[in-house]
Amino acid sequence: MFPETSPASGYNERKTQRQFMGQVLAASAASRIEIVHDVGSLRARLAQWRRAGETIGLVPTMGALHAGHISLVREAKRHATRTMMSIFVNPTQFAPSEDFGAYPRSLEADAAKFASAEGDLVFAPAIGEIYPPGFATLLSIGGPATAGLEDRFRPAHFPGVATIVAKLLNQCRPDIAIFGEKDYQQLKVVTRMARDLDFETKIIGVPTVREADGLALSSRNVYLSAKERAVAPSLFAALRRCVHDINDGVIIETALAAARKTVAAAGFVTDYIEARHAESLAPVTSREEWPVRLLAAATLGKTRLIDNIAV
Ligand code: AMP
Repeated sequence: MFPETSPASGYNERKTQRQFMGQVLAASAASRIEIVHDVGSLRARLAQWRRAGETIGLVPTMGALHAGHISLVREAKRHATRTMMSIFVNPTQFAPSEDFGAYPRSLEADAAKFASAEGDLVFAPAIGEIYPPGFATLLSIGGPATAGLEDRFRPAHFPGVATIVAKLLNQCRPDIAIFGEKDYQQLKVVTRMARDLDFETKIIGVPTVREADGLALSSRNVYLSAKERAVAPSLFAALRRCVHDINDGVIIETALAAARKTVAAAGFVTDYIEARHAESLAPVTSREEWPVRLLAAATLGKTRLIDNIAV
């Protein structure tokens, strides 16, 4: 129904099976994947794999895994013989007013989901392992990181993201690292940073996984009340309508204004709904400045949703 992927049924089937088999699966998951908490053990295991000629795929996450994360694991497995996932709720990418404390944490359930997707290793460091006392470095980033989208509303976010991703790339030295298009500006920021700092890791983007009604899967969707959950898909619906209008010849700014109006009428407080060049994230005014991407962020109740779509 949607141009992108929806939650794979295989994953949902496995999830259901796991609910029935509870203990047994938890035990087999625990025995099949390795969870390491410190950089020393991580590097030792990865070095062993490399000596054996294995290639390594990294899927960085903050946990609370859903089918979107699992699609990243599947993509990693297509490119590398070993797949590892980092699970770390990174404090430096949250502003003090944001949900760092409340962010859902579920390491055991996440490890079981990752095992079901046949991942190999989870790296779940404590905060002190990543940011030891005296830590004093934060990357300064430009280009897509200062495009005036997320950065306008969350100025500390991308320096925190770039710093943790750079650390993970150094710690893991993976052949490939997978990121979701769901966080489109983040994907561009990480790609730019990896190129600028000469990381050898290839950065690969994966399309957004959605619910059947179009809502992009997100760990933060659990914050939505039942009433808000019913309204939430209207953000993506407005973006789809906007793409349709632009491709029908409606002037971009006119189509965007209509989308902003629809989203506000649905009850969102909109941060931005914008059309940008899909690579540079520079503003565009015409369909001819192809490829174009629409990007949006809007808050429903207390939950901030972001989404994007190709034109
Ligand atoms: P997070 O745990 O939210 O930091 O996300 C970890 C990775 O999963 C990021 O690269 C996200 O872009 C990606 N991701 C999150 N939601 C989705 C989704 N619905 N579809 C595909 N990838 C996603």
